[in-house]
Amino acid sequence: MEGFRKSDCDGRVKKTERIWMEEYINVVELFGCDVFNDSVMQARLPKKVYRELKQTIEEGKELSLEIADVVAHEMKEWAIEKGATHFSHWFQPLTGVTAEKHDAFLSPPMDNGRVLMSFSGKELIKGEPDASSFPSGGLRATFEARGYTTWDCTSPAFVRHDAAGGTLCIPTAFCSYTGESLDQKTPLLRSMQAVGEQALRLIRLLGNQTSRRVIPSVGAEQEYFLIDREHFEQRKDLVYTGRTLFGAMPPKGQEMDDHYLGTIRQRVSAYMKEVNEECWRLGVPAKTQHNEVAPSQHELAPIYEPVNLAADHNQIMMRILKKVATRHGLRCLLHEKPFAGLSGSGKHNNWSLNTDDGINLLDPGTTPHDNLQFLLILTCILKAVDTHADLLRESAADVGNDLRLGGDEAPPAILSVFLGEQLQDVIEQLVSNGTATHSKEGTKLETRVKTLPDFMKDATDRNRTSPFAFTGNKFEFRMVGARDSISACNVVLNTIAAEAFQEAADRIEASDCYEQTVHDLIKEYAIRHQRIIFNGNAYAPEWEEEAAKRGLFNLPSMVDAIPAMLTDKSVALFEKFQVFTRAELESRAEIKYDIYAKAVNIEAKTMIDMTTKQFIPAVARYTTVLAKSVNEVRTAGAFDVGVQLELLEKTSLLLKETSSCMKVLEGLVAQVHHYPEGRQRALFCRQELVPAMASLRKPVDELEMLVDKEMWPMPSYGDIIFEV
Ligand code: ADP
Ligand code: MG
Repeated sequence: MEGFRKSDCDGRVKKTERIWMEEYINVVELFGCDVFNDSVMQARLPKKVYRELKQTIEEGKELSLEIADVVAHEMKEWAIEKGATHFSHWFQPLTGVTAEKHDAFLSPPMDNGRVLMSFSGKELIKGEPDASSFPSGGLRATFEARGYTTWDCTSPAFVRHDAAGGTLCIPTAFCSYTGESLDQKTPLLRSMQAVGEQALRLIRLLGNQTSRRVIPSVGAEQEYFLIDREHFEQRKDLVYTGRTLFGAMPPKGQEMDDHYLGTIRQRVSAYMKEVNEECWRLGVPAKTQHNEVAPSQHELAPIYEPVNLAADHNQIMMRILKKVATRHGLRCLLHEKPFAGLSGSGKHNNWSLNTDDGINLLDPGTTPHDNLQFLLILTCILKAVDTHADLLRESAADVGNDLRLGGDEAPPAILSVFLGEQLQDVIEQLVSNGTATHSKEGTKLETRVKTLPDFMKDATDRNRTSPFAFTGNKFEFRMVGARDSISACNVVLNTIAAEAFQEAADRIEASDCYEQTVHDLIKEYAIRHQRIIFNGNAYAPEWEEEAAKRGLFNLPSMVDAIPAMLTDKSVALFEKFQVFTRAELESRAEIKYDIYAKAVNIEAKTMIDMTTKQFIPAVARYTTVLAKSVNEVRTAGAFDVGVQLELLEKTSLLLKETSSCMKVLEGLVAQVHHYPEGRQRALFCRQELVPAMASLRKPVDELEMLVDKEMWPMPSYGDIIFEV
């Protein structure tokens, strides 16, 4: 069968195409079938309880324990029908992955020795995992172990099925005994509130009296690599760090662009089918799938949703991508840069602001020049991004992204905004004349084929190189790394937008002539913040120079970016909107430094391990084979052994270089603990370890090109990326 390797097809994928055709999935029935969603609540809860819960979900009204008890009971009954035996408060601590602790629905045995299945409102609303082992960045000492999880009723509970059976997962926020947030969700919810309030204020001032809420929405396109499980297991670097630390480029990489949107191989299709089904069951609206630029790289994009849901669903999607892969003899890599020299994986965070009655505040309409509300919102966002470009960059900082940003089809670490032809023209009119009088229109696209229809083009082309691109009716923030939660960047986007909207609303409220003030604000923001707009090729090296001239931030590494969280500007911003306190920001910065140092350290140690136990012995064996060959060929007669000798010399020199680079790296790793945890240690890793790792990689990759393939101790890039 096309695209299959015999060894790793399990029964499921060995079906003939005929059976695939007969296996009909009813998506409508499947979608959300394991979710305690609005229609389930409406059907199962008493009317009064349903109404009160809806008010809590939509208006943030406090939920009484009585109501919670009824909801919990129904939720449990429903979950048991779905096969659940346990419930779990599901949360997102600052480890970068989700966390959970499972409790059975059992209540203490009764006198007759039988048990009851129970679940109370209190258990639904509040949990208390022993939180001492989660990172708190100094917010708590280890002996202060209490942490609480609280139900986020705006994200529906769901029953997850896996080897553990059925588990009712309750999305929760996680905070410390003293109320500081220790997770991704809490600040996200706070920031949604902030931008919602300020955006509503602004549109009220501009005449909208009907919308009741403004909700930031996100569609997060998820990129990933899919490789053979056997290959994965044969590489310690992938096992320990999620990426390759060594590896020479094969003769063919991604230069032909023949993988992008190419035919999806059958083995991968079978995988995607199951991923979709599992996503749909849990209400994750997985929609678009395709092959990405690098061989064995793919993408899955959902339909956009309110951002806290989108963030939860992205976590669920990542888990499903990984879980289903193992069932197919595959491994899903979510690392930002699994292979040097090939595209990395990111998450494109498509962000917009929508009212509860269906108005997208980022929709320019057909004549943006006379859409005052749109222009004000747009220029406010320009102001926000220009003012806080460092923070937005920081929000996408993670260890893997240091390797991705600025190379092989990824946006650079410099933040700029792409507006496109039409809006650029409007901004130029505003900047030069103070007003905009016309908008460029989309022209007709003539196919010059009689049987193909001509159609109207969009007024603006796309730009794939920009880190923050306006794409029709949303902004696409492309910096986020593939593994990272989308929460951090949306916390920043929401809060900086809230700040800009607040300032504009304050100025409009304080003025006598509202219309003039709106015009003035649009003009002022456009002029002041036009430096952040860049419509050219952001991959080009000249852009870096140009950006420096414009005074834009260029923060190539995570370690360079982290201080942005703690500037006075940042603390003032987050405290004003009660998204983070200074202590929370300090703790998050501390955690990030810590994660950076630990991750780099693990990588360095893995390199040392692989070099000592695998590369040096393999190369030593190879040189022995060569030396023997030289001697044997010589004894056999006076043949020319020049080739063998040259190879032997080259290999031996590289082996020596490998050994000395490794010693340097070992020496540095031994020094790491001399540096205090936090910024100093992270800086040492960045400045010393990272370059020493690159030095060690060089001779090893050269050796890989020389040594007999049979003797090389692990699968090569070529084996891994072309053999799925
Ligand atoms: P592309 O790869 O061409 O950028 P995709 O279809 O892969 O497009 O992804 C686009 C993403 O943007 C999807 O997740 C989609 O739901 C999301 N999206 C579309 N419209 C909006 C919007 N108004 N607000 C937020 N996200 C949106
Ligand atoms: Mg896409």
